[in-house]
Amino acid sequence: MEIEEFRKNGYKLIDWIADYYSGIEKFPVKSQVNPREIYNSIPVEAPADSEDFDEILKDFDDKILKGITHWQQPSFFAYFNANTSFPSILGELLTSAIGAQCMIWDTSPAAAELEEKVCEWIKKASNLPGDWHGVIQDTASTATLCALLMARERHSNFMVNKSGFEAGARYIIYCSTEAHSSIEKDVKIAGFGSDQIRKIAVDDQFAMISQALDQQIQKDLAEDFIPLFVVSAVGTTGSHAIDPVSAIGEICRKHGLFHHVDAAHAGNAAILPEFRWMLDGLELADSYVFNPHKWMFTNFDCSLFYTNDKETLIKTFEILPEYLKTDSGKEVNNYRDWGIQLGRRFRALKLWFVLRSYGLEGIRAKFREHISLTQQFTQQLKDDGRFEILAPVPLNLVCFWFKPVGEVSLENVNELNEKLEHSINKTGKAYITHTKLNGKYTLRVCIGQTNVEKKHVDDLFKLLTEQVEIL
Ligand SMILES: *Cc1c(COP(=O)(O)O)cnc(C)c1O
Repeated sequence: MEIEEFRKNGYKLIDWIADYYSGIEKFPVKSQVNPREIYNSIPVEAPADSEDFDEILKDFDDKILKGITHWQQPSFFAYFNANTSFPSILGELLTSAIGAQCMIWDTSPAAAELEEKVCEWIKKASNLPGDWHGVIQDTASTATLCALLMARERHSNFMVNKSGFEAGARYIIYCSTEAHSSIEKDVKIAGFGSDQIRKIAVDDQFAMISQALDQQIQKDLAEDFIPLFVVSAVGTTGSHAIDPVSAIGEICRKHGLFHHVDAAHAGNAAILPEFRWMLDGLELADSYVFNPHKWMFTNFDCSLFYTNDKETLIKTFEILPEYLKTDSGKEVNNYRDWGIQLGRRFRALKLWFVLRSYGLEGIRAKFREHISLTQQFTQQLKDDGRFEILAPVPLNLVCFWFKPVGEVSLENVNELNEKLEHSINKTGKAYITHTKLNGKYTLRVCIGQTNVEKKHVDDLFKLLTEQVEIL
């Protein structure tokens, strides 16, 4: 593609994107294709010769688009959102245009320094502890793995990095029964076993019982295990439960454990002063992660990882082969030493575009709107009488089920709710998902898509009641 052709196709593609967004609501939110349908529609061999851009774009329209689940549809209420926004799309376009590999300061000083700055902006806006340092990781899964490796190295005085594991099997990692599956994966990657995880019981609000954590740690100590690492969840994926960060932090301090706070989704709301209480006690923790790529209108991937122990973070990951040595000195950040992979994308750019384009107050206003819509929807469910709210609704996720009158077994109610979920998603008008809470098949509705408005939530409630009628 020559430069003038790029210009022409580029304008065409921007038009395509604008048209996509203006007509996005005509697409089924959840893709309705069958398994292998897309795969079988793509030629067996890669093209030997150059193909025209118009041809490629046409095939995208005809063959790919129907296999897309439209996460940017305002009626996407599934999982947690993976939002983007126009400023983010444009920032990402520039990142790909510049195509810089931002592994060290020298390979793009602006990428390193803008990353440092946006991390500080968010730190201030969320009122995180002043002496903490931030870095952008790809995902919360990776950030939690970094925290766990830091804990391992700090405890072993960097001997695992040097000599490998000896007493590894004695280390114990703690999280609640509701914590995210990435923790178990991270534990296995970090050289521990899943047997070394203690899943601590939760209360009737699905938050970790801190006394149970304390008791378990004491029991493990008495049996000569080495309690190492605790993950608190602020906003569990199942129900948005908020673990008591402060009480857990005190227990960790008492026993000398590393405390990591996983607020992948809910942490976005920490820029709202009225929700900052969720992170009370963070100053007693060692690290913290949340994902602007979930709620904060910044397209995947963009996960902010903060720690109060930059030295341990860097010492855990630092490797300096001759070909990466530079003369840039101590006052710059070489982010290859702040995480796992060497190569890094210029992720700060899209976040900078978003923060400047909306302004903090603009983002806050949208978050407040989402939270208020969630409260309205929760009230509608309660008023209807056929639904039961199954978990507290602190933010923008509501967990509920349809509860038929009379004596109905748990299995039957579960089946009905599973059927309800699928029938809603089959209409293509909205997309919701589920979890299990106390054995109950729980429908989850997360109201946080960038462009969601009251009418979409009203439509969802209408759809829900229609589908209940024909169950
Ligand atoms: C979504 C989520 C994760 C995983 O986030 P990734 O960025 O996809 O790794 C971890 N923890 C919680 C609480 C989450 O909601």
